[in-house]
Amino acid sequence: MTLTRLGCAGPALLLIITLAVLVGVAGPQIDFAWKVHDPERPQPAVVTAAQDAPPSDAEVLLGTTDLSAWRSGDEATKWSFDNSIMTIVPGSGAIHSRAEYGDCQLHLEWMIPADREVGGQSGGNSGVFFMDRYEVQILQSHDNTSYADGGAGAVYGQYPALVNPCRPAGRWNVYDIVFRAPTFDKDGSVLQPAVVTAFFNGVLVQDNAELLGTTVHQRRAQYTAHAATGPLQLQDHGDPINFRNIWVRRLPARRGPE
Ligand code: MG
Repeated sequence: MTLTRLGCAGPALLLIITLAVLVGVAGPQIDFAWKVHDPERPQPAVVTAAQDAPPSDAEVLLGTTDLSAWRSGDEATKWSFDNSIMTIVPGSGAIHSRAEYGDCQLHLEWMIPADREVGGQSGGNSGVFFMDRYEVQILQSHDNTSYADGGAGAVYGQYPALVNPCRPAGRWNVYDIVFRAPTFDKDGSVLQPAVVTAFFNGVLVQDNAELLGTTVHQRRAQYTAHAATGPLQLQDHGDPINFRNIWVRRLPARRGPE
């Protein structure tokens, strides 16, 4: 169809197309606080990130000294600690960080004992819970199959890991997880779901996964409103799993355009 054939409707149509293109290119109007390459824009805070050491702004929850950052209920943790390695004492119960966190970046290393016999969810099971509620599963998933949303790197019961980079028993595995806390309206409804992004041995296994609610077993998760921060929890599932080198960085709130 040509503009000649459209007659007097032609210029109007051309105007509409032009406006549509302009809006499409420009997008919605956003009030940015900063100009592009604004010299007045604050610089990022300097963080020293030495190799094989926590970043300088991290809170070390498990280092070389003791387990004082953790508790078993209101008491000192009942898990064992030797040569910078913390080990679950089966049956002693979960442990919790004494400090509470909302949005955070967590680094954690775990290892299944080399001689451990495993089968499905048994033998090599733990987990790290953010805010005492939202579990990223720890499981011996090397040469060991279980339901997909219960494997290592899964958001338990919700999202399987994108891939399975789990190392054999007797070798250390590394989690680097970014957790975004959910936010709730005054009536308890969810404003923003919890979000998990996770790297497992350097491999992306959770990509901005929006959680469906509090971790539960064999049921569909749903949210219950809670405080803005909560402790990290490590699960005692009856297996003597080893941990080392745990640190956490508090993160600023999710940001929009600036
Ligand atoms: Mg678990």
